[in-house]
Amino acid sequence: MPAGGTLAPSDAVITPLDEIRVRADFPILERSIRGKRLAYLDSAASAQKPMTVIESMREYYAEHHSNVHRGVHLLSEEATTAFEGARDTARRFLNASLAEEIIFTSGTTAGVNLVAQSWGRSNLGPGDEVVVTTFEHHSNLVPWQVATQQAGASLRVVPLDSHGALDLGEYERLLGPRTRLVAVSHASNVLGTVAPIAEMTAMAHQVGALVFVDGAQAAPHFPIDLQALDCDFYALSGHKLYGPTGIGVLYGRAELLSQMTPWQTGGGMIQRVEFEGSTWAPPPARFEAGTPPIAEAVGFAAAMDYLSRIGFQAISDHEQTLLTYLTEQLETVPGITIFGTAPGKIGVVSFGLDGVHPHDVATVVDTHGVAVRAGHHCAQPLMRHLGVSATLRASLGLYNTRADVDQLVVALGDARRRLGA
Ligand code: PMP
Repeated sequence: MPAGGTLAPSDAVITPLDEIRVRADFPILERSIRGKRLAYLDSAASAQKPMTVIESMREYYAEHHSNVHRGVHLLSEEATTAFEGARDTARRFLNASLAEEIIFTSGTTAGVNLVAQSWGRSNLGPGDEVVVTTFEHHSNLVPWQVATQQAGASLRVVPLDSHGALDLGEYERLLGPRTRLVAVSHASNVLGTVAPIAEMTAMAHQVGALVFVDGAQAAPHFPIDLQALDCDFYALSGHKLYGPTGIGVLYGRAELLSQMTPWQTGGGMIQRVEFEGSTWAPPPARFEAGTPPIAEAVGFAAAMDYLSRIGFQAISDHEQTLLTYLTEQLETVPGITIFGTAPGKIGVVSFGLDGVHPHDVATVVDTHGVAVRAGHHCAQPLMRHLGVSATLRASLGLYNTRADVDQLVVALGDARRRLGA
């Protein structure tokens, strides 16, 4: 599979994912929901956690916890080793060249805000432009809107084609001498579209612009090779990657991070403090003020190790096969419209049913034990582009099976009957 690239089905010999074993790794999947088997089709909002993640955090708290970086006692050393070990796991997982380029944040949203404010304050000025796309999540849109407004700069928006893919011709036309940065999602949380990041980055770099990638939806589905993508910043969330909530990674190119001023200040991020002023620690500490999410870093590292053990080839092959099945099955439901049909999309399917509100459908579907999401998915401009106020969304994770899809389709049939669609 190309690095951080497309999801074209591979013809290589692969180890198929062992569905039964994988499902057994996730204790929550044994829960019954409203008396029914749980069909969890909401991993794009947050993925469930394998036992290894839960256990790693229990063990950390039961045996190793203390604060990091400050103590000389054994527990503090152990906590520091675990925390910095997690940073190195993230570096390897993302193929960044240096551990110093990995900043632990509370999630993707925090990573975007950090760069929009820290980098934006000193690099955006009147007349400058930041390029975003029509399918950005509010988290990778509103912080850029605020930063450009603060600087007297403006946003330019890359349009979509009828399948929900980015119009690269228009993208090229939008890039110019005023473009300072391109902010783009690696994969859309609504349409599932995968953006060609390496290509877009090369085009942006040609005009001297930086590239910020929101990898919240991409990282759970295919390997991210930061050196191959060559982007300047990359943000993701642990909880979408089968890890805990409250932690994420912001990758930043070392030479950029070293020139950036802190976003939050306080303990742990300084070199020297005087009443008159302070100097900053080098990255990553400069961007990690206060006590970091230590147990969460441990759990996140366990999640990345878990995914690496299974292997992204097996994960994406499994999810792509299931995505085809899900799409085919949904197309059998009368009155359905699927939003987003770009080739190589991830296992995220947004859809509407004629004549009924997505929230009502999701409520009926829940009575069947099926968890899907309904709403604007934090992408209101995209909803406007699609001409709807909300959609239903079924999203796949590595633990989903055909049984989950079948349960959804039965539940949708029931919703249509009950809601008079
Ligand atoms: N970007 C995208 C594409 C997302 O799907 C999400 C989560 N829905 C976010 C950013 C925000 O992630 P978090 O809430 O973990 O910060």
